[in-house]
This record gives sequence, structure tokens and C-alpha cells, in this order.
Amino acid sequence: MPTIHHLEVRPSLPPTLANLSELAGNLHYSRSRAVRDLFDAIDADTWAQVEGNPIRFLQLVPQARLDEAAGDSAFLAELAAAWRDFEVHCADDRADAIGPAFDSQETVAYFCAEFGFHESLPIYSGGLGILAGDHCKAASDLGVPLVGVGLLYRQGYFQQCIDAQGRQHPRFEDLDFSHLPIRLAMREGAPTQVKVEYPGRVVTAQVWEARIGRVRVYLLDTDVTDNAAADREITRRLYGGDRRRRLEQEMLLGLGGVRALRTLGITPSAWHINEGHAAFSILERVRELTADGLPFEPALNAVAASTLFTTHTPVPAGHDTFAPSLVEAHFESQLEALGIEAPELLALGADPAHDGKHFNMTALALRGSRQHNGVSRVHGEVAAQMSQAFWPEVPTEENPLSHVTNGVHVETFLNRDLTRLFDATRRDWRDHLHEAAIGEMAGKIEAGRLWSMHLSAKTHLVSDLKARLQRQSERFGEGHVRLKQRCRVLDKPVDEFLMVGFARRFATYKRATLLFRDRERLARLIETSPRPVVFVFAGKAHPADEPGQALLQTIHELSLEQRFAGHVLLIEGYDMGLARRLVAGSDVWLNTPEFPMEASGTSGQKAGINGVLNLSVADGWWAEGHDHQQGVANGWSIAPTPEATDRDDREANDLLTLLETEVIPLFDRREAAGGSDTKGLPSDWIAWQRHAIATILPRFNASRMVRDYAEHHYRRAIDAHRLLAQDDYRAARERADFERDLVTHWGGVGVKVLRTPESIMDQGESLSIEIETTSPGLPPHSLRCEAVLSEGGSRRVVVGELVESLDGQAWGRHRIALPADLAGEVDYRLRVVPTHETLLHPYELGRMLWL
Ligand SMILES: *Cc1c(COP(=O)(O)O)cnc(C)c1O
Repeated sequence: MPTIHHLEVRPSLPPTLANLSELAGNLHYSRSRAVRDLFDAIDADTWAQVEGNPIRFLQLVPQARLDEAAGDSAFLAELAAAWRDFEVHCADDRADAIGPAFDSQETVAYFCAEFGFHESLPIYSGGLGILAGDHCKAASDLGVPLVGVGLLYRQGYFQQCIDAQGRQHPRFEDLDFSHLPIRLAMREGAPTQVKVEYPGRVVTAQVWEARIGRVRVYLLDTDVTDNAAADREITRRLYGGDRRRRLEQEMLLGLGGVRALRTLGITPSAWHINEGHAAFSILERVRELTADGLPFEPALNAVAASTLFTTHTPVPAGHDTFAPSLVEAHFESQLEALGIEAPELLALGADPAHDGKHFNMTALALRGSRQHNGVSRVHGEVAAQMSQAFWPEVPTEENPLSHVTNGVHVETFLNRDLTRLFDATRRDWRDHLHEAAIGEMAGKIEAGRLWSMHLSAKTHLVSDLKARLQRQSERFGEGHVRLKQRCRVLDKPVDEFLMVGFARRFATYKRATLLFRDRERLARLIETSPRPVVFVFAGKAHPADEPGQALLQTIHELSLEQRFAGHVLLIEGYDMGLARRLVAGSDVWLNTPEFPMEASGTSGQKAGINGVLNLSVADGWWAEGHDHQQGVANGWSIAPTPEATDRDDREANDLLTLLETEVIPLFDRREAAGGSDTKGLPSDWIAWQRHAIATILPRFNASRMVRDYAEHHYRRAIDAHRLLAQDDYRAARERADFERDLVTHWGGVGVKVLRTPESIMDQGESLSIEIETTSPGLPPHSLRCEAVLSEGGSRRVVVGELVESLDGQAWGRHRIALPADLAGEVDYRLRVVPTHETLLHPYELGRMLWL
């Protein structure tokens, strides 16, 4: 056999199309349909072949098609319009929606182990990565000066293949980086490299740059020839390999990430650690300061002040931990520069709630940040509970772990017709996403129009699903009859059948098979439903997660049973492209997590902004997103029963009951009479869809989320750090001293109530409580007295004042003036807490003495 040589001859871009190359190299295309449509218009076949990758498109498209487009004035006009939008979006002098929140010197670094912008850059596994991608897009929209830091994985996560027996086969293929929308990050004309010390060797990483509008994300990659073969594989796979490999990756992200920014001349003033994977960045930043002569504790204080940590994992097993010996071996060479010994290093990663046998990345992140948050109200409460041992004397509901509810990048996930309609109604709608007016705009969409837009998205989805089913079926070697059976619902008119979508990672707590708990009942429901129902499932299970893979197999097997054939579909290869279509074209979005394990569940938000109705356990974002007004709601909630031993049965039962008695009847109801324009429409259903868009879009979008982070957390981090860093870190040193004194002397604080009001009193009388404190070793003004009032069901904290003190005798007298508006029966408790001018949260020192 003669060898076959492969040659790829790439076309050259005609000068009039030159801007296409920049548009292909900026992930702006992931949110702009106008840009993606340009490639489709040039050559739909090549565009389909490259699966939405514009860089690859420009490498493979026939020269003739480019030449044709270059001479087509209509096309050139489209290109010019898309280019203008892009330029306006990226312009330096654009009036930033966020206002003057940041000055030109300020930058926010955003670290994450995965980023999901678009399916053409497959370095994400699920919700965390897509959230990070959406965060960058919204930062670009708002003008928040953000830079991202992550890793570039040679094989990404994995591609999913499901065989005829329903077994998942992960496919790992090397990505060719020249096919991706990234470039080497250059500094003074040379590619950027960083070095990270590992036991016995130094590893080099090169730094890539991805552009998302005006935001830059730097991605580290160890697959360079300087490195030993094993080290070239550090960045081979996202969430692949053993614990040692994971530790190597996280060191690269944390240490290498900070060094990459320094090498590029970027000096962030606030640092956002998105999930614990990147927490080693704290140690690297502390090391920078200790290398400059600052002692360890003040250095940690200064670093923590400028750091925000977002946790995403209510599942204890989901928190990254390492064997202490492994961490010690990997950081041995850093200890001297950090100015600490191994036990102190390990103490930073100790989880006080557990045995201390693990080095816990969440614990490190909590100790190295002063602001911490969960990603929904429910999750914030769970996270506060989980980390309550970090502030052992503070009641959980008052500890410093707050929440910022996630949101999704609207333009990325909004269907084509709604985008067009919004563009036509209000050109600048993208800049006003957090305003009520946006909800009102959605609330006014005329019924017939909304329904036809929905059906168009649904039609698009159905044809995509059929094509995928056909490919799957061909691979299984199935006959034509089988495929026809699989498509027996999808082949019906789209307004006739109800499509329920379920797509997400197949982690067991998400309970993908809850729907099938009572199969007989489900079969009956399907058989007797007045409208055909189809349930579409998609999602990947982690290759090491056997139970997750078993769920996939169960659904596959059910989909083959005669009674479920065509009504239950399992689609392989879930990615952002499929997600975008599913959340736009389904009628109902199903989510059945085990409460309270769903931190947020952003796919339901993507569905909601498209008018797809959520049917979900009231967990994550949905617990605050479900809305009901005068018979019109934005979806349905399954009440969680976490305490019940038969919770799965109960919740599955509720799910089927809701489907049977509410979802299907609402969908089934059509206008019998009325004008010709409403006849046959499911008017009630459409009213719910409209309500879903109007209530979900303005609240659960990424602009609102990034605005919350920027205006509250980033701003405070920058200001707090500035305060601590002044005069050679004077305040950071003082605070570190204070914390040390607190450890020694808090136990010696004495408190005495000098005066309390009469137990019965007239309204309006001014009352105060006086308290005396003695605090050897702690200055009197470092204590604050508080009264916690409960009136009826509500609580109020009243803060006292130090009115007299004798520093030498560590004595103080405090007065708490009770508010004049008290009425009825009031209970109160008194307490003393330590305070310091550098606090970002009143109870972050974790101490509280109740009287
Ligand atoms: C939005 C999204 C997710 C997150 O889904 P959850 O609702 O959080 O489970 C996962 N994967 C993809 C591809 C997505 O687009």
C-alpha cells in the first residue's frame, strides 16, 4: 500500500472580507447570531461541516465561495453591519453601562478551571464553565475591566458516544489549537511563558489568549517541548487523571495563573476565585508579598481583603481535597519564601468540620478571601451551614457567607425570533437587562406572535433531534422501522405534541431517572394523554462516575421499550450547541435534583427567558424564581421532601401528578372560538410563557449577576485592599496583630449588664441598655455590644456605642439605644463581638459572646 499524504490547502481571504478573520477570532460570535449567519451565508455546507467553528470554516471553505461573497453587495452590507456592531461593542470610549464604578487602573482577575463560551472551544464540562463564560460576556457588555484565567486542555473534556446497549463511550481526541479561536498571548513581541516548580522539576506553560468582546481570557498549557512527557500531559484533560494530576493542574492554575498575569503586565486589584480549584492563587499572591518582606499573616490578610470566593458545590464530596502529604511534597519548595512551616500550610486547608485528614481547597479559599458567596438563596444558606465551623460562635444565618444568584447570558441563549423582536422594539435592550422595563417589553408580546416564535424554535430543534437520532440509529445498525418508531412523536405537527426537555450533567444527585420511578403510571400517562408527550434526555456522565453512566443506560433501555418508544429519547453528545436548541425549543424544562444539592441550575433560566416553562424541584434558583400571579405562573414546583425516607417516591409522584393534572391540560386547552387569529391557540399556555419571560429575563440574567458582583463585591474588595495596603501594609499588619491578640485574649473578656430598661414601658420612651466590658489584652474600642431584638417573627440587630473607656484598665462602658418604634412584646438578647476598622463583614472574625 502506498502511503497517503494529507494536504490541506487553505483559501485566502479577499480584501473586502478581511474583517471576517477578526470576527472569527473573537468569541463574540458565540453570542452574536448576526456574525454566525455570515458564515452560514457564505457556504452552508462548510458551515454545517465545521459545527459552528468559524476559524475552521475560514480554513476549509472553498475559495470560490469566498470570492462570490466578496462580490455580493448584499452580503457585504451584512458584514459591514455585523462589523459595526462588533466595533461598537468593543469600543474603548463606549459609555459603560456599569457607570464610573472602576477607574482605568483597576482590573478584576477571574479564575476558573473551566470556561464555556461556545461548543467550538470545548474546555468546559457543565454549568460551572458556562457560568464562567457568561460572566465574561456580561463583563464585556457592562464594561467591567475583567480578565479571565484558566487552563487550555489538549483533549478538552470528552466527546460522548452512546452505544446500542446504552453504554457511554468517552472519546478523547487531541484538539488542534490552530483550529480554535485563540492565539498565543504576546508580550513585547514574544509569546508568554511561565514556570511553576513541582517536586524535582520546573514545568513551563505557554499562555494563550481568548477574546470575548473586549474581555481577554488567558489559558495555560503545558504541552510544550521544554517539558518532560508526563508534564506535557498536565493540561491534557479537564477533570481527568488521578489526585496527583488534579493537584498539578490546580497548582498550574493558581500559581501559573498569577504569574501569567504578572508576565503580561496585568495588575489586578480584585481577585475572584470561581470555585475552589483556583485557590492556590492565594498562596502565590501571599508569596509575592512575603518575598517583599511582609510577614505571612499580614500578607494573607491583604490578599484575603482583595479576594472574593464563589462556592458552587453543596455536595460535600464535590469539594476538592488532597492528601496533606501530597500537598506538603508539592509546596515544600515554597515554604521558605512563604515564611511558614508545613503544619501552618496544612492548617490553611484544614476543614474544621471534618477530621483534618484532608487538605480542602474550599477551606483554603475561605481563609484566603474576605468575601464568600453561594450562587442562589437556597445554596447560600446551605453553604453558610457547611462552612459554619469557620465562624464557630456566629449563628449560621449571620455568618459572612452570602449569595449572588446566578444568571445566564441572554443573547447567547435567546432564540432567534425573540432576539429579532427585541432588536426591533428597543435597539439598546442589551444594556438594560436588569430593568423592569425589559420584563414589561416581554409582557407585551402578542399571543399569536409569541406562539409562532416558539413553534419556530421548536421546529428547528425537532429537525436537529431527528438528524441526531438518525446518525445514532445508523451507528447502531438499526433498520428504518426502528428509526421511524423513535420519531413517531417528533414526526407529528409541532404544535400538537408536548416536548419535555431534560439536559445536564448526569451526576446522580440530579436524579435523571426520577420520572421513571413509577413506570406503569408513566406509561398510562403517555397512553391516555390528550396530546402526545415526548421526553428528551441528554447529558454526559463523568467517565469515572459509574452510577451516573448507569442512569444513562437505564434511560436508553426504557427508550427501547415498546410503550416508551418515541416518547422517551436519549440524545448523545450534549454540548452548548445542543443546549442552546433544547432550551429554546422545548415546551417544558424538567429538573429533578435532590434538594438542596442543586446550587443553581442555570439551564432552567435559559429555558425561562425563552418562554419555556420550568417544571422543577424547588431548589437552586427556582426556589426564588418560581412566580405565581392571579392564576398565571411561570412554571411548576415540586415541593422537596428532604427529610422523608421515601422522598424519591413522593417527589416522583408529585411530578407525575403535576404533569397529568396541570401541565398537559394547560397545554391541551385551545381556543375554540374567537377571531381567526386566536382560534386553535393554547392561549393560557401562551400567557404562562409570556409570564415566564417577563419574570425570569430581568432577574436571572448574567448582566444583573455581574452588576451585583461588580458594584458590591469587586468594589469592596478593591477599596478594602487599598486600605490594608497603605503605608507599607500598616492596616494589614495591625489587623494580623489584632487577630493574634484575639486568639489569646478573647477567652478573658468579661461582660456585665449595668442597666436595662423597665420590663413594661410606654411607647416612645427612650430606652437604653448599658454594658460594661473588661478585656485584658484587647483595647475597649475593639469590642462592640449588640442587642438582637425579636418582635413577632422578625429580628433586628441594634448596635451599641462605646461611651466611656479606660484603656489602661481595659475597661469600657457601652450604650445600646433601643429604637423608639418598638411596640408590643419584644424579646431581646445581648452579645459582644470583636470589631476592627478593616472588617468587610461585621462577624468575619468568628467570635461572639452572648450574655
Ligand atoms: C447551562 C448548561 C449546563 C448547566 O445546566 P444545569 O441546569 O446547571 O444542570 C450544563 N451544560 C450545558 C451544555 C449548558 O449549556
